[in-house]
Amino acid sequence: MAKFDLMTLPYAPEALEPVISRETIGFHHGKHLQAYVNNLNAAIEGTPFENKTLEEIVMTAEGGMLNNAGQILNHNLYFGQFMAPKEENKPASALAKAIDEAFGSLEAFQEEFVKNGAGLFGSGWVWLSADEAGKLVITQEPNAANPIQKGLTPLLTFDVWEHAYYLDYQNRRPDHLKALWAIVNWEVVAERYGR
Ligand code: MN
Repeated sequence: MAKFDLMTLPYAPEALEPVISRETIGFHHGKHLQAYVNNLNAAIEGTPFENKTLEEIVMTAEGGMLNNAGQILNHNLYFGQFMAPKEENKPASALAKAIDEAFGSLEAFQEEFVKNGAGLFGSGWVWLSADEAGKLVITQEPNAANPIQKGLTPLLTFDVWEHAYYLDYQNRRPDHLKALWAIVNWEVVAERYGR
């Protein structure tokens, strides 16, 4: 029996348009993420990893098992928490203050985040995380990596794999990343920061 299920999108597949098209969601969520789920379920069957959470697998597994678990964890956060079909909103209170302290301003943070996403060679994810002291950091994580592997608390991520944007933006990765700000769910990001 499959242990992990494909996460259910908390919005309609066209709800993120025009930033992310229904077609992209169909492939990205329905095909790519489903494949990671199928691969992980096949890989853990009959192993001690059958009884572990996604986070535990990401912290302890290697090779294909790590890659598929990492991709599921990352996409569950990206689709399920960080993106939302809503009017552009802004980070609130403690998070806004931490962003100003770390980057100077929200605009400067967004520019730096997009720069890191655009500059990540190949496939991966750009992340905003908090360290134990609550200091904010931007990291580029290759392939399926997640900042929990570095002891950080992930607050926001943009997927920079080509499958996340190629149908809608072709080679224009920076344009896609800039457009994503319109659907970032800052309420969730602030809640995860939790200070
Ligand atoms: Mn992806």
